[in-house]
Amino acid sequence: MKARTDPMTITHPFYDADGDKLREECGVFGAVNATDAAAATALGLHALQHRGQEAAGIVSFDGADFFVRRGLGHVVENFSSQEAIAELPGMMAAGHVRYSTTGGAGLRNVQPLYADLASGGFAVAHNGNISNAGTLREELVGRGAIFQSTSDTEVIIHLVATSRYPTIMDRLIDALRLLEGAYALIVMTPEGMIACRDPLGIRPLQMGKIGDATLFASETVAFDVVGADFVRQVEPGEIIRVDFDGNVDSLHPFGTHRPRPCIFEHVYFSRPDSISDGRSIYEGRKAIGAELARETPVEADLVIPVPDSGVPAAIGYAQESGIPFELGIIRSHYVGRTFIQPSDSDRHAGVKRKHNANRAMVEGKRIVLIDDSIVRGTTSLQIVEMMRDAGAAEVHFRVASPPTAHSCFYGVDTPERSKLLAAQMDVEPMREFIKADSLAFVSIDGLYRAVGEKPRDASCPQFCDACFTGDYPTALTDIRRREDKQQQLAFPSNKVA
Ligand code: SF4
Repeated sequence: MKARTDPMTITHPFYDADGDKLREECGVFGAVNATDAAAATALGLHALQHRGQEAAGIVSFDGADFFVRRGLGHVVENFSSQEAIAELPGMMAAGHVRYSTTGGAGLRNVQPLYADLASGGFAVAHNGNISNAGTLREELVGRGAIFQSTSDTEVIIHLVATSRYPTIMDRLIDALRLLEGAYALIVMTPEGMIACRDPLGIRPLQMGKIGDATLFASETVAFDVVGADFVRQVEPGEIIRVDFDGNVDSLHPFGTHRPRPCIFEHVYFSRPDSISDGRSIYEGRKAIGAELARETPVEADLVIPVPDSGVPAAIGYAQESGIPFELGIIRSHYVGRTFIQPSDSDRHAGVKRKHNANRAMVEGKRIVLIDDSIVRGTTSLQIVEMMRDAGAAEVHFRVASPPTAHSCFYGVDTPERSKLLAAQMDVEPMREFIKADSLAFVSIDGLYRAVGEKPRDASCPQFCDACFTGDYPTALTDIRRREDKQQQLAFPSNKVA
């Protein structure tokens, strides 16, 4: 079974106005037994655009052939025309939006990846990051595998291709057993669609239904947009298979583990109109703001969000504290892809182009600024300065997450640790750096309470919170090997003869 590939390349300068944020790297969507699967997938991907804006791809299957279309740029740039959708016929389709970190940019890394295996066509869309992909890749290359991309996801294809089990499902399970890290996968084979989540459920994956069609998506908002019903989440460690007769079956081949879903989905990544881990993202963010107000109260005249991501937490802070909520910063929604930002100074310019102080609200006021996180701190500094320039009498900065002091290795684009402000200094020096009158972060227990959990169970936390605590829920084989190599280079006398 051969895939017909007609990739379209759109090259353009990439500018990210949220350069001082952690960035979710991917969103996935799949539709099976749908009358117009590719159109539904394009719509679903559009709703997930916030999870990846650098490239988009869709693979479809019409019962005989697979069709592949992938391109750099937004979903609308690649899949808004009738001609584009017409190139993707069939009742099954899977799509992917991405940023690039693991594997880097370039069309060859744009997903879904596709391969012709002995068992037939195999397409995979992956959200997450395989933290032992480098090690597995070395072993596979040593056995003669030839990689087409630098994506960690291609390792999965090679492991499936070389598994000795007879069925595609057993081959996939065999491959997944070797992976460590985070994966939410949508797989297409000539037999149907398979959706699965890593045993800890680090990255989200939801299941929906419309008519006879079964859908899978990173976030429930994608179901709303295509007019589908949200059914349930794919459970951590679960594999769901849907065939073309509409049969749906569920497997749990990896035993029982305590789930550790990414808590940052609740802070920032997911859209506020999504449901994740059974909880409304919007309500969780408001509750984080209320926790912040209780934990770190301050005398002030106004609560002002850093738009857009700080808005729900600011509403929660205002309601809990009784301090009025106002829009003291107005965001331009038309800034974005026009400008290149190759240096720090350009990044600052980007912040100013995106946010403007609402002087009529701010002047002479003591304000509480609410943002979701501080990463490098450069944007926070710019915004505090913008408030002072607009005449704010006092600027108190409150952050709806604990200090981000560690890198993420599970599919989120984090600056290296040396660039994270909280990895370099405590809260008081951070306050000085961003030039605020006061600075406070929600506590880790406050964050857990806000998203409906008991305080953090240190012996077995209910979430992945490694970027705050450094407590990584899986082995990090590639990272540890790299550290060992660096140590050997630094101290060559330690080498075993
Ligand atoms: S390290 Fe942070 S961003 Fe990464 S999965 Fe864990 S909680 Fe989410």
